[in-house]
Amino acid sequence: MPQKNFRGIPASDGIAIGYVFCYIPTKLTVPDCPAGTIDEEIARFETARNHARVELQNLYGAIEKRAGKEDALIFEAHQEMLSDPALEGKIRELVTSGLNAEQAVFKATEELAGLLASMSDELFAARALDVKDIGRRILRILLGLPDTALSAITQPSIVVADDLTPSDTASLDPALTLGFITAQGGLTSHSAILARTLGLPAIVGMGSDLLQNVSDGVFLVMDGNTGEMILEPNPETAAHYKKIQSQRESNLLVLKNAAEKETVTANGRRVEVAANIGELSSARTAMEHGAEGIGLLRTEFLYLEDTQPPSEEKQYRIYREIFEVMSGRPVIVRTLDIGGDKPPSYLPFPDEMNPFLGWRAIRICLDEPELFKTQIRAILRAAVGHHTRIMFPMISDLDELRRAREIVETVKRDLHRDSLEFSEDVPVGIMVETPAAAILVDILAEVADFFSIGTNDLTQYTMAVDRGNAKVSGLYQPLHPSVLRLIKQTIEAGHSKGKWVGMCGELAGMTKAIPILLGFGLDEFSMNPRAIPEAKHLLSRITDEKALEIANQALSFGTATEIENYMQEILPSL
Ligand code: PEP
Ligand code: MG
Repeated sequence: MPQKNFRGIPASDGIAIGYVFCYIPTKLTVPDCPAGTIDEEIARFETARNHARVELQNLYGAIEKRAGKEDALIFEAHQEMLSDPALEGKIRELVTSGLNAEQAVFKATEELAGLLASMSDELFAARALDVKDIGRRILRILLGLPDTALSAITQPSIVVADDLTPSDTASLDPALTLGFITAQGGLTSHSAILARTLGLPAIVGMGSDLLQNVSDGVFLVMDGNTGEMILEPNPETAAHYKKIQSQRESNLLVLKNAAEKETVTANGRRVEVAANIGELSSARTAMEHGAEGIGLLRTEFLYLEDTQPPSEEKQYRIYREIFEVMSGRPVIVRTLDIGGDKPPSYLPFPDEMNPFLGWRAIRICLDEPELFKTQIRAILRAAVGHHTRIMFPMISDLDELRRAREIVETVKRDLHRDSLEFSEDVPVGIMVETPAAAILVDILAEVADFFSIGTNDLTQYTMAVDRGNAKVSGLYQPLHPSVLRLIKQTIEAGHSKGKWVGMCGELAGMTKAIPILLGFGLDEFSMNPRAIPEAKHLLSRITDEKALEIANQALSFGTATEIENYMQEILPSL
């Protein structure tokens, strides 16, 4: 078969060469065909249940190896639920009343889940999802469908999917995922961000016919740097890409070795280069790549990986482990940023027309103060002896910020009352990621200790372009003059009030933006860990004077394309 070339949006650097695993979440339809005899249907149920047990045992083993016993326990619990006498009794009763096995399993598990969900005890309510999950598993087996869940990948593969939710991406095993390609998504959709953090090559926005062109087991080459995907490459093409792959790896190694030092510009001004991370292993990656701190610890993945919110103790332990890995370097912990494209299963999410404009981030935290307080308690306790800061996402109003800070004060009083050790003087800042906040920085500075610009959302809200929508990805322009003006204004207003202004949006790690941001006077550049060596190298070659000249020149253009062209032109000379 001749090789076929395709192109999408390059979302995360790196080349992957390997076989495809197509991730197609299975749609399950309960058949309404007549049932066999009672014995036949019971036997079908029992066979499917045994099969489910084997699947769960395999999953338990795989997750235990990858993430540890604690994360694997959920599959042990699911195995136990398979033998639950009440559930089994109900299924038998329904089969006896004339339903086929699929109908009986579906009805019994949905009813039991409904009952659990209605209980006021949170633990029971959370178990409702587990019951639904095992119901779906048995149903799928009864229907003779394969397990296409991402956790079913058993050998190193390139994952191809229509789209990946953040929790899908979080469940990818980096050791078994060579890279991924999606039909949907944009440069700053969360799956793309996570890919960069994990160092997985990724291409997004390939177009809706992706899964018609690619099938399970196909051999392909992908280049996350250019967005190229080559199906069934001929041997010369594959060899060419292998060569580029090893050249890039050795270049990175040289830069990485040089990245251990603190960053100073060519005229000796100190700027910080930090990392954006979402979990412990990326903290280690950040250290290896020369991070001088963590400019953004995304905590939401902790909230998305389970059917219930993480306990205070679990969070405390994880935050502490991360602070310890960073050994004294500053860590900015962003409070829960769920909603938008990251809805957890245990909160009652309304069907929203525009989830990114809806119930998300700080809005949820202020409506669910107990959830919020648990996190603040864990952060303040873990911060003892460390250089920790708290940051609220999605702030768009002064009152919102005041209320959130008030909750931090209440939590401190509670911790005093409980005689628990915690850090009193943790600075509290905000993300500037709504145009409302960017315009209001001078006022917000009365209550915020620091600012960090979130260009991923700031771009989507300024340009009115959904950051994950491939159809309009051409209009998503973080280097648009409007976005640049808001960034400049934020830095100037923050500085005029004596506040530190960093940036943790993806723009901070892009070489085509770094000179401009330096010219605006940005204090900190926080990016995916693997972008750090090159960013440090670039920053150390530019003087502030030169950066200012570049920033002014960039601001004189009327379109993002002109700015990008100008930057591409001058970058080689820097
Ligand atoms: C941002 O919006 O720029 C940001 C860093 O936050 P997130 O990408 O998690 O929304
Ligand atoms: Mg954001």
